[in-house]
Amino acid sequence: MFKALRQRWDNFPLAARLAVMITSLVVVVVISVTLLAIRREQQTFRTELRNQASLILDTLAVSSADDLYLLDGDALSDTVMHLNESPLVIATHFYDDQGRPIGETTAGELAVDPLGQQLLTTSGTWFDWESDSLRAGRAITAERQQLGAVSVVLSTRAHNEKVADTRQEGLIIALGTAALGGLLAIIMSQAITNPLKDLLEATRRLAAPDAVSVGPALSTDGKAIVHAHDEVGQLAQAFNEMADAIQKRERDLRAQAENLHVATLRAQEASRIKGEFLANMSHELRTPLNAIIGFGELLLMGAGGPISEQQEHYLKRLHENGQRLLTLVSDILDLTRIEANRVELAIKPFAPRSTVERLVAQVAPLSKDKNVTFTHTIEASLPQTLAGDEKRVEQVVVNLLSNAFKFTEQGTVTLKVWADPEAKTWMLSVSDTGVGIPPHALDVIFEEFRQVDGSSTRAYAGTGLGLAIARNLVRIMGGQIKVDSQLEKGSTFTVSLPLVLTAEEVAPVVPA
Ligand code: ADP
Repeated sequence: MFKALRQRWDNFPLAARLAVMITSLVVVVVISVTLLAIRREQQTFRTELRNQASLILDTLAVSSADDLYLLDGDALSDTVMHLNESPLVIATHFYDDQGRPIGETTAGELAVDPLGQQLLTTSGTWFDWESDSLRAGRAITAERQQLGAVSVVLSTRAHNEKVADTRQEGLIIALGTAALGGLLAIIMSQAITNPLKDLLEATRRLAAPDAVSVGPALSTDGKAIVHAHDEVGQLAQAFNEMADAIQKRERDLRAQAENLHVATLRAQEASRIKGEFLANMSHELRTPLNAIIGFGELLLMGAGGPISEQQEHYLKRLHENGQRLLTLVSDILDLTRIEANRVELAIKPFAPRSTVERLVAQVAPLSKDKNVTFTHTIEASLPQTLAGDEKRVEQVVVNLLSNAFKFTEQGTVTLKVWADPEAKTWMLSVSDTGVGIPPHALDVIFEEFRQVDGSSTRAYAGTGLGLAIARNLVRIMGGQIKVDSQLEKGSTFTVSLPLVLTAEEVAPVVPA
């Protein structure tokens, strides 16, 4: 309950809250001051009335002692009548030494008045306050002889009316000051909150420059107006400086982004031209290279006549190097095609088991001159037929197997193929017991031209393009490639590809 009220209060505008608080304070102060004044006045009046009563009673005790001694009812009645003419005195009573009233129309009656009796035994003056009167009395003595008593009733009505008037005046003054205070509070709180509202609007503008303004008018350049040089004014000034700094930074950032955009466009254009150039160059290089390799093979076969042993040795070297150059040029051509998104997959049904057997036969000679055993496993989970680009799959696996043989001096190289129908993938893994790859190089070996040992004196030949091409081809086929390796223990490369059984199922692959 209290919390809900508090929340409502907190949601009120600041100016309204300030005005309510100041007005309440003013009202409380005015009411307290009025009540205090009334109390003071009442106290003074009571004291004065008591004094007056004492004075009247003392005077009567002296002036009417003889009349009382003589029990002169007429004289006492005169005194009473005379006294009662005063607007202040409501009634006066004399009592004889037995406490019986005398000096009135009932003078001489024998009935005892309890008040009269009480007064005879009271020393000093007795007072009793009633709602609109003060009753007072005292005993009258002469030379230690008790003569009787006297009591007066004084009216407080005049005073009560005065207090009521004061209360009314106080209320009017309280209402008047509350209204004036409220007005002042509104003016004051607006003087505080208007600059704050300006500042708020300026902040909103800064955050969302295109948003439609709902706040008060701002200076035309979208800055906060500095109304005065007080704390709020200083805040507005500081805000404007900050806004300037932010706007400048934004302009700088825009300019930088623009420059960056231009640079990106230029880089893209340069990359495209480079791709085109490389593709053309690769093509131009392959044609004469094929001719060199072809004529070398013809000479080796003896088509140009018998050749000596030395000539055969030279021709073989020529042929080998021609082949390496052709592989390199083909790799570069592949990579440029991949970069230009110009690789098209030839999706057809194929028998993965035959593919694997053919691959095994193709790479088996690589283990010949080494102390390396080559094994392969095809698990039963692998379907008989799959749909995909068989040639590209072969290209990837041949690359992984060539690396495995290249980086393994002794031990085993294993090719394993299996399928996981639930995960809708089929996998090929190539494991070796070779040199392994250090952890820091595991990510970079898939980047172009990256090798663990990139020095010119490195022990293993190669261009650093094979894995980059393999990864890109696997991606294009909708799969992924990962590597696990330990230095000196060996490496395992695993390729996982979508398990697609018919050519119709092939999902289009978005180039990375
Ligand atoms: P290349 O073999 O022509 O250098 P790759 O892109 O095929 O280029 O391989 C990049 C690098 O990754 C290799 O130079 C080698 O350092 C490392 N690498 C690849 N396969 C293996 C492996 N089976 N064992 C150890 N290192 C390997």
